[in-house]
Amino acid sequence: MAQYTPMIQQYLKIKADYLDAFLFFRLGDFYEMFFEDAINASQELEITLTSRDGGGAEKIPMCGVPYHSSAGYIEQLVEKGYKVAICEQTEDPKQAKGVVRREVVQLITPGTVMEGKGVQEKENNFLVSLAEDGKGYAFAMTDLTTGENGAAAVDTIEGVINEIYTLGAKEIVVSSHFPEEALAKIKERCAAAVSIEDQDEPDEASEALSSHLSDTGLKAAFSRLYRYVNRTQKRSLDHLQKVTLFQLNQYVKMDYYSKRNLELTETIRAKGKKGSLLWLLDETKTAMGGRLIKQWIDRPLLSKKEIEKRLGVVEVFLEKYFEREDLRESLKEVYDLERLAGRVAFGNVNGRDLIQLKKSLEKIPGILDLVSSLDNEYTSEMAQNIDPCEELRALLEHALVEQPPISVKDGNMMKDGYHQELDQYRHASRNGKTWIAELEAKEREITGIRSLKIGYNRIFGYYIEVTRANLQHLKEGRYERKQTLANAERFITPELKEKETLILEAEEKMVDLEYRLFLELREKVKQYIPRLQSLAKCISELDVLQCFAAVSEKRHYTRPIFTENALHIKNGRHPVVEKVMNSQEYVPNDCVMDAEKEMLLITGPNMSGKSTYMRQIALTSILAQIGCFVPAEEAELPLFDQIFTRIGAADDLISGQSTFMVEMLEARNAILHATDKSLVLFDEIGRGTSTYDGMALAQAIIEHIHEHIGAKTLFSTHYHELTVLEEQLARLKNVHVRAVEKDGKVVFLHKIADGAADKSYGIHVAELAELPAELIKRAQEILAALESGAENDKPVPAAAPQALSEADEQLSFFEAKEVKPNREAQKEKAIADKLKKLEILEMTPLEALNQLYELQKKLKS
Ligand code: ADP
Ligand code: MG
Repeated sequence: MAQYTPMIQQYLKIKADYLDAFLFFRLGDFYEMFFEDAINASQELEITLTSRDGGGAEKIPMCGVPYHSSAGYIEQLVEKGYKVAICEQTEDPKQAKGVVRREVVQLITPGTVMEGKGVQEKENNFLVSLAEDGKGYAFAMTDLTTGENGAAAVDTIEGVINEIYTLGAKEIVVSSHFPEEALAKIKERCAAAVSIEDQDEPDEASEALSSHLSDTGLKAAFSRLYRYVNRTQKRSLDHLQKVTLFQLNQYVKMDYYSKRNLELTETIRAKGKKGSLLWLLDETKTAMGGRLIKQWIDRPLLSKKEIEKRLGVVEVFLEKYFEREDLRESLKEVYDLERLAGRVAFGNVNGRDLIQLKKSLEKIPGILDLVSSLDNEYTSEMAQNIDPCEELRALLEHALVEQPPISVKDGNMMKDGYHQELDQYRHASRNGKTWIAELEAKEREITGIRSLKIGYNRIFGYYIEVTRANLQHLKEGRYERKQTLANAERFITPELKEKETLILEAEEKMVDLEYRLFLELREKVKQYIPRLQSLAKCISELDVLQCFAAVSEKRHYTRPIFTENALHIKNGRHPVVEKVMNSQEYVPNDCVMDAEKEMLLITGPNMSGKSTYMRQIALTSILAQIGCFVPAEEAELPLFDQIFTRIGAADDLISGQSTFMVEMLEARNAILHATDKSLVLFDEIGRGTSTYDGMALAQAIIEHIHEHIGAKTLFSTHYHELTVLEEQLARLKNVHVRAVEKDGKVVFLHKIADGAADKSYGIHVAELAELPAELIKRAQEILAALESGAENDKPVPAAAPQALSEADEQLSFFEAKEVKPNREAQKEKAIADKLKKLEILEMTPLEALNQLYELQKKLKS
């Protein structure tokens, strides 16, 4: 290293502490990057790579971005998941002996950005920390832009991944000892940057925010997060709020797959909000409400009391249309109080932000009156919590002019009368300027030169200017000559210079003083941060509830009624499909599931509406449990503890993950964790493998849920053969989506009816898809042949035959009859294998008897 120049040595020393970040090294008006950083940044940012001498044998790769336009480049890198360390010159280059001192003043990371494209108005930006203690995981989160903090204990790594997914966290902080295997899983599934922080001792500030947490693990996880933010951001974190303890068992559990499959906050294919439940519901008027509604959708409630509270307010808003409209109008004017509080603490607010704050606060008394006037137990409770922060509003009104400039360093922000000394300077400056204006008039008069004028520039200050043509009218020695221009002459007088000194002094003092006053004002506003944050909470809740009412009214939703166990939906609709269907009529459907019939086996042709129907039941339950009305004529619903949605891999085209293994993993999770209070949607499970395999698995899954879980289950299948299960499983019922054949073509009615579909219509769909007519005809022939010899094809006992190989299956398709003996033999072999493997000595006589019975039954079937 010794051969490098001192500056490069300084660079390398600083870089050693920020190996996982791009180091933006300030050099005059540029941020420069060197070595690897330069090569990578030039590619990522598409900027020119150059090189410079650094004292070593070879030139050093280098690239740079201008300081004044650096924000965009930083944003780009952070958006791509990188970290950027901002290294500034921390002493005046003129004063420096040797290399100017430089320090990293901030590390900008995906989880800590405060501004720019990465910070969407209606989205939180969560940073997460994790700790593992052998039993489970402690999970903490913060949103630096809003100051929200939370912590939760999570049992499994799957649970952790779910939370990271739900929060959309872009960065995760762990200790360097965090178990590698778990970290690898997280990295595989979540697109989040990983950062290391080994400190997890609380300091005074983090203790103040987390002292109420009794769990030491959670406290440590939060401290780790706090330490990390503190170390990287190096500035005030006064806006961070007390840590909210999330008891995950107070919310409906939905894992990553279910949320994704139900398209709650983003669609599967486009990954955007459009087309999701959030997109349908979000008619909030404030950014705060926009973030809260997403949080609510992600965490439906279990407590009937809490749900009824929300529904109660929605109902009031529905009744009071005019009040609601007024409220919506007022909410439009309310600025993002949470983010504002964050920027106040961070020291990024300007006069305009504070004026926005004032304008927002001006709306609060009206909102408060309105909410109080609704005269309802729930809204009255909300009204009590609305704090208009009147003193703050008055302070801002008193202090700031209506249209302050963007910069806080150029003055002109404070009102006259706010501060006596400032008023005096302003007075002096204004007086001086009046004097100069008067002087101009007077001199014109005396000299008779109409075009004489008094001007100002930074170098010469005030001067009197006379055009060359008029110089002859000027009495020699009247003014002192200062500067000669091409066609004018500039002069000064001692009096003018005297006034100039007064004016400039006053102005300089004025600007300094105003800046100081602004900082003082900002400090005062800081004191209000906690009150502004709790006001923000009230406003965002009101906003979400008015939005529920607005959507419920527009789309004719009804208030759900909660039952112990039964589900009864009359004329239900899929909220999102209904919205996007435009002109076509959505066909409403009923759904009945209760203790007698808790499983529905849904058959029907492709494209008839099976998936839509299942999802509409799940979405209806979710809407109900977040406290919104539901898309149905009548809805009686149980409170579900968990919702599972699984889609057969053949239907799931996402990012090459559509393997049968994923399908089974997803199914496993549901089967392991569902209870009799859960809702399970299995959409064509078993499709991702060969027919007999798939059918056997599907049947075994249905039996298992029926016998051991008792969850409300909707199971759609194209294995028509499964419909005979209705005879064996008491609480299973067949339903189908109706389709009719008209002129040899299939017409989908999208209507659910009792019983099994009479056939599968696959070929009709192929016809709709306009496959060649000849091919369709041939398929019809093959089908007829298959059906005429298909008696033995009826349901296959679950545990029975071994998987047929690909080749076998192909064969069976064309020469069904010949293959059958083969299948019989396979079945016998499977049973014999099972018999061989039985550990007779380990079994009780009863178990042995049972096994024998089972095997015999299979052999006979
Ligand atoms: P399946 O799962 O049976 O193949 P889908 O549920 O995917 O069928 O539905 C296919 C299409 O049919 C949907 O995209 C939608 O446009 C339409 N559809 C489904 N249900 C209805 C309904 N109840 N009313 C009107 N159109 C519907
Ligand atoms: Mg489907």
